[in-house]
Amino acid sequence: MLIVPESEIAALVSPEAAFTAVEEVFAAMARGEAYNFPVIREALGEGRQYGFKSGLDRKGAVMGVKSGGYFPGNAGRGIPNHQSTVFLFDPESGRPTAVVGGNLLTALRTAAAAAISVDRLARKDAKVLGMVGAGHQAQFQLRAAARVRDFERVIAWNYHPEMLPKLGEVAAELGLPFEAVPLDRMTEADAIVTVTSSPAASLMEAHVSPGTHVACMGTDTKGKQEVEPALLARARVFTDEVAQSVTIGEAQHAIAEGLIAEADITPIGTVIAGMAAGRQSEDEITLFDGTGVGLQDLAVAGAAVRLAAEKGVAVSVTI
Ligand code: NAD
Repeated sequence: MLIVPESEIAALVSPEAAFTAVEEVFAAMARGEAYNFPVIREALGEGRQYGFKSGLDRKGAVMGVKSGGYFPGNAGRGIPNHQSTVFLFDPESGRPTAVVGGNLLTALRTAAAAAISVDRLARKDAKVLGMVGAGHQAQFQLRAAARVRDFERVIAWNYHPEMLPKLGEVAAELGLPFEAVPLDRMTEADAIVTVTSSPAASLMEAHVSPGTHVACMGTDTKGKQEVEPALLARARVFTDEVAQSVTIGEAQHAIAEGLIAEADITPIGTVIAGMAAGRQSEDEITLFDGTGVGLQDLAVAGAAVRLAAEKGVAVSVTI
């Protein structure tokens, strides 16, 4: 089997490669060629979270699991709080084929999912990108979204305003004017990415103009919430996987309040595969509930292994 160390990932997997891998696996899910296994997630106490996301892509011949979690004490140890490792297996024999460092891959595959939603659902003439959130993941989201539309400026809000200048530096690198704004100025945005660990809605229905695309990326657990449920009732709602969207995604709240039904949510893979319509008018609000599925992790890890083998940077071991 091969080991692809975390330190190699940046040189191997580009945002473009992550975008392609995730788009392909979303379409494979829609065609029934790939499916996710139930997620396991445990609270370990003292804020620590640990879990597994896994799945099988028959067509891509990828099976595996991402083991990972959140360990808030790590910052004091000089290592990232989020820790992920991907294990891949041969779907025919069950033999392990690879272990891949999963930290950067998680950021890349999450940014890719939102960018895919912007690419497929935002208006073609979208000019203003709104960011709600300014943490680690927000920087990846901003870079990835900027690749798929000709944005002319970025407006941003964060619960902790002192974090915004770092996001502004990323916008500057991309050559985009950046402005910190109050939430009610998000009405200026044509596409909005939310990516916070918020336990309550920040972005309200009144903060979103007709014709906007909203990608909600922060809510991946029961109890998290970034947007007002009424916004989902007003929008056409898309997701990576409906089962996760209604239980651990942003839609959990609108579903619980009876504002939308499971049948109102469209898997984005069906849009990519040409089985469902994307945006249908210039005025409608589209909303992508990006919950993060195991197959995204396996898709980018599979790409990392292929590229590492080609470049001779994978470590081969017998297990
Ligand atoms: P981070 O710790 O670097 O940043 C946290 C962000 O949340 C910051 O913008 C912070 O200001 C904001 N925040 C914290 N407490 C808040 C509160 N009470 N109200 C409003 N905002 C608050 O984390 P990150 O790595 O940027 O991840 C952000 C979120 O995205 C997390 O919830 C993480 O679990 C989630 N995530 C989702 C996926 C997915 O696939 N959907 C993948 C990776 C991360």
